[in-house]
Amino acid sequence: MTSGEELKKKLFHEKKSGWEGLTAEKRDDIQNYCDGYMNFLNKGKTEREFVQEAKVIADYNGFKDLSEYESLKIGDKVYYINRDKSMYLAVIGKDIAKDGMNIIGAHVDSPRLDLKPNPLYEDNGLAYFKTHYYGGIKKYQWTTIPLAIHGVIVKPNGEKISVKIGEEETDPIFTITDLLPHLAMEQMEKKLKDGIAGEDLNLLIGSIPYEDEKVLEKVKLNILNILNQKYHITEVDFLSSELELIPAFRCRSLGFDSSMIAGYGQDDKVCAYTSLTALLDLKEVPEKTAVCILSDKEEIGSVGNTGMESHVFDTFISELLDRLHINKPNLMDQIFCKSMMLSADVDAGLDPIYAHVSEKNNASLIGHGIGLNKYTGAKGKSGASDANAEFVAKVRGIFEANNIAYQVAELGKVDVGGGGTIAYILANKGIDVIDCGVPVLSMHAPYEVTSKYDVHTAYCAYSAFYKAN
Ligand code: MN
Ligand code: MN
Repeated sequence: MTSGEELKKKLFHEKKSGWEGLTAEKRDDIQNYCDGYMNFLNKGKTEREFVQEAKVIADYNGFKDLSEYESLKIGDKVYYINRDKSMYLAVIGKDIAKDGMNIIGAHVDSPRLDLKPNPLYEDNGLAYFKTHYYGGIKKYQWTTIPLAIHGVIVKPNGEKISVKIGEEETDPIFTITDLLPHLAMEQMEKKLKDGIAGEDLNLLIGSIPYEDEKVLEKVKLNILNILNQKYHITEVDFLSSELELIPAFRCRSLGFDSSMIAGYGQDDKVCAYTSLTALLDLKEVPEKTAVCILSDKEEIGSVGNTGMESHVFDTFISELLDRLHINKPNLMDQIFCKSMMLSADVDAGLDPIYAHVSEKNNASLIGHGIGLNKYTGAKGKSGASDANAEFVAKVRGIFEANNIAYQVAELGKVDVGGGGTIAYILANKGIDVIDCGVPVLSMHAPYEVTSKYDVHTAYCAYSAFYKAN
């Protein structure tokens, strides 16, 4: 090595693909872990389904619902499920009052199309559901793909009917049609964002008329008749339903080398799954109380009583302190001020096809490890939770000590756009927070792409963070 090469090795911050130099054993570990992830993602495609599946594996790993504990002690594993849509889990550490908590928070809702309260109509012999999109989507991406309907219909007597149709090979699927190019001259002249109107995202659901000369809206009647036989509902029951249209494709390995994953809802279920499994797999009682947050409604601003802005998380922590028999005024706030958190949300990976929106020195690359965003926000960091340098150093230290490949990145070039996560909400409580998640390509599209190396690295990173002092 020349002296220049040696000096460069010492002084430069080298960035390289995580796959380089991995043993065959490590590659197998990554593939196996990601098989579990893809399998889980295929079962937990909505926030309700994710929470349901998370409960199954939490129970299996010795966690119990908060209501089952009269008292808590060191090492106890506990969770609380909020209205079937968000969940908080904790492993009680040695001295929560003195040490604070190590928190990792992800969200389990993803962009999608929701049915309107009065969705069903008939037009020219075809039956449709009207939709209202949820979260930031590029509307044209949601036409002409197979869609499944997932969700619940609740009757006034409390009866809850689960709906999941379009996932099994034998199920029908649904789709939103688009204009043929031959007649799309006017549409093609429009801006991409205006090409498909929100009110035109109507789901095609049927075409056979009910056999009766006398009635009008025969196709709609036939659909309602089918739904009545299958789910025992009538049209009015849609008023109290939450039905989500999500891509009917399965999560799959991507590439000849199977190095990547294509799947719906990886924002942010990839961080939710990795932070959840890292907590469930903790073998020893952590020094600090380890907490995993699976929140809802992040994609529309963390609003409502299942979103991170609600006080339900505080109530959960307060309940832990009650059951530890140490609660007193201000204790929770003091604990928050001693706590640290990874806001586990996906990062915008640099897409070589659209590299012009990224600043290459400050963009995370697929396959290069977990991405840390010191800040997010837009236009001069507005709306960001800018992590303190001291805390970034602390997190770096944890990752470096545990050989975790990480990269520190920004969300795109300055003034190109921006975004946010739940980070600021927890930071407002006094917690040290930094965004830390898996880089994704095609974020918010029906099919999002991640690297298996990064997914496994996220699991290792979150595991190290829960265990950190
Ligand atoms: Mn997200
Ligand atoms: Mn998102």
